[in-house]
Amino acid sequence: MRIEIINTGSELMLGRVLNTHQQWLCRQLADRGYTVNRQVAIDDSAPAIEGAVREALARAELIVVTGGLGPTSDDRTRDLIAALLGRKLGEDPAVVAHIEGFFAARKRPMPASTRIQAMVPEGASVLMNAHGTAPGLVMEPAGGKNAACRLLVMLPGPPRELRPMFTEQVVPILRERFPLPAPFVCRTLKTSGMGESQVEEKIAGPLRALTDAGMDLGYCARIGEVDVRFVTRGTDAQKNVAEAERIVREILGPLVFAADDEQLEETIVKLLTNRKQTIALAESCTGGAIADRLTNVPGASAVFLAGLVTYSNEAKQKFLGVRSETLAQHGAVSEATVREMAEGARDATGADYAISVTGIAGPGGGTPEKPVGTVWIGVASASGTIAQRRFNAFDRETFKNVTSQHALDMLRRQILGIS
Ligand code: ATP
Ligand code: MG
Repeated sequence: MRIEIINTGSELMLGRVLNTHQQWLCRQLADRGYTVNRQVAIDDSAPAIEGAVREALARAELIVVTGGLGPTSDDRTRDLIAALLGRKLGEDPAVVAHIEGFFAARKRPMPASTRIQAMVPEGASVLMNAHGTAPGLVMEPAGGKNAACRLLVMLPGPPRELRPMFTEQVVPILRERFPLPAPFVCRTLKTSGMGESQVEEKIAGPLRALTDAGMDLGYCARIGEVDVRFVTRGTDAQKNVAEAERIVREILGPLVFAADDEQLEETIVKLLTNRKQTIALAESCTGGAIADRLTNVPGASAVFLAGLVTYSNEAKQKFLGVRSETLAQHGAVSEATVREMAEGARDATGADYAISVTGIAGPGGGTPEKPVGTVWIGVASASGTIAQRRFNAFDRETFKNVTSQHALDMLRRQILGIS
């Protein structure tokens, strides 16, 4: 089965918007056993859209087109595709009612231009948009020059509209129209604390029987983690993946911190919730990034007490009780300071655990002894305080990401008692 994705939008060509649909849709499809063969991004112009869709119609069984379903003059996808397939457009009263309801619920007047989104090509099915006004459209081009294509799906551009529409409405259609020849299972285990080749050394042998029998085993090294991915098809798919997971968990133990889309911060919130324990933060160079990650997790309020962003030396002294002698003698980026920060945050909040970070994000401020990228991370708990020095020489945003990953993993290890 051949699948092609067409992402439309001049803003993509201008580099104003990152084409996240490309990755997201490919990932969603791949995880369900459908592999995308080709993906193109094009501008909003009629020739670009017509050209790309015409090409795809001749060879792909499934085409997914994103963007350009809105009410403005640059939203041409619906009209152009209807014209290409020789289908007339007609107003769909259910969509008109949906759009009217959308504005009524928000107590906003309905702009006349939005009504155009209710125009539906002859024979198309409508995917109601739970988070916006433009419906998605599903067409069956079949026949003639377009013989290859069995299904063409148009989805709205905004990710918060496209994503739920795809998972809730398009996936069931795909499963029905394109049933997989055999069961397909894909599972990812996320590990930390070991390099990619080390992980492979440990698990490849024990998994040999399964991989010889056709299971795909993949590794993906990311910042502070290595993902192990199993993919398999066939009647025993579920059983084989479960067996692979059992083997890897047995070998790597608590180095496996999450599975599939679960994030490290979710693992932490779960661990602390189960133990009825709490966490506080004293962040300097991460500027609240750790607090941000923790508070993205629903239910974080059960475990997260407070996060202090103590950027200046004065704030470290005033709110965390870091001593001026410590700062004078060792500097703000030092083991002594990071320990006092963690202990100060724990004392001030009464949390079971406190994480502290202090470092030099750069690009300025480095010295030969403490180059840009130097960061100290501390974790205080009832069993004492630990501190680690890391060297994360990246741009500021990556620095925050990596450092928050290291800090959360240090906490995870401390909670689980892994050295
Ligand atoms: P609207 O009704 O908002 O105009 P639309 O279906 O016409 O929706 P577009 O106009 O193409 O879609 O895109 C709307 C917005 O959706 C863009 O400004 C952009 O922020 C986001 N978007 C569009 N395409 C992508 C993409 N490929 N990846 C990520 N975001 C995208
Ligand atoms: Mg638009």
